[in-house]
Amino acid sequence: METTSPALEPVSQQCVLVHQNKILVDSESRFIFSEAELSRALGSSLLSHAAERFSLSERLFLYRLPSAQDCGEFVWVRLRELLGVLSEANFQLAGRAIQISHWHMTHRYCGRCGSPTVISDEEFRLDCEQCEINYFPRISPCVIGLITRGEECLLARGVRHPEPMFSTLAGFIEVGENAEQAFVREVKEEVSVHVHKLQYAGSQPWPFPGQLMIAFTAEYLSGEIVIDPKEIVEAKWFHYDNLPLVPPEHSIAGRLIQSFVRSHR
Ligand SMILES: [Zn+2]
Repeated sequence: METTSPALEPVSQQCVLVHQNKILVDSESRFIFSEAELSRALGSSLLSHAAERFSLSERLFLYRLPSAQDCGEFVWVRLRELLGVLSEANFQLAGRAIQISHWHMTHRYCGRCGSPTVISDEEFRLDCEQCEINYFPRISPCVIGLITRGEECLLARGVRHPEPMFSTLAGFIEVGENAEQAFVREVKEEVSVHVHKLQYAGSQPWPFPGQLMIAFTAEYLSGEIVIDPKEIVEAKWFHYDNLPLVPPEHSIAGRLIQSFVRSHR
């Protein structure tokens, strides 16, 4: 016996639009739109200009546009401008979109034989069919940590921070190191201080462009502060009740510092 299926309403796909390191937002900093909504606002040809389309989830697609064309009431913004504006979950999603786009732009050819890579439809993966090599989005693990000495913590102003803000020490993990070794080494290199008693304190993706911050608390062991001027402008011990300008709590550095302050109050 033949059955007829009820006609299904077409489900509108949702999309995120990215051009290089910028993402399209509306005046309320929304960045996820239905395809129908975008087509109504900007014309149906916009999405057909996309260089690639990636699936971010079942019904959410990333379109990478080859140019930052004028999009009327929508604007292209850098991811950093959305930090602290979006919820943490939405910021992670926007960061994921930017990183997928960046990864694809920088892995269009196989590093071994130079053939064009092919997008896998199974996962975030680019394949070289000649060499049978797979290229995955690159994540760079970093360590970050708050060093404490009783009621004080060690904070530093890095050379790359334009604002007069003090933060926790951080650095990239080197090949062959574990995260704890990397943190102990970074602290020694940047401020000449020895630390011990490391405790894991969480992690945070930091998409500028592809870091994963692995956080610790550590206790001071020995040594006087001597800064490496290539990395650090100034480093000091601060009492928990007399802190300088520090990062906000949407960064893991800010969370480490606030949690230290709360533990003493
Ligand atoms: Zn190859």
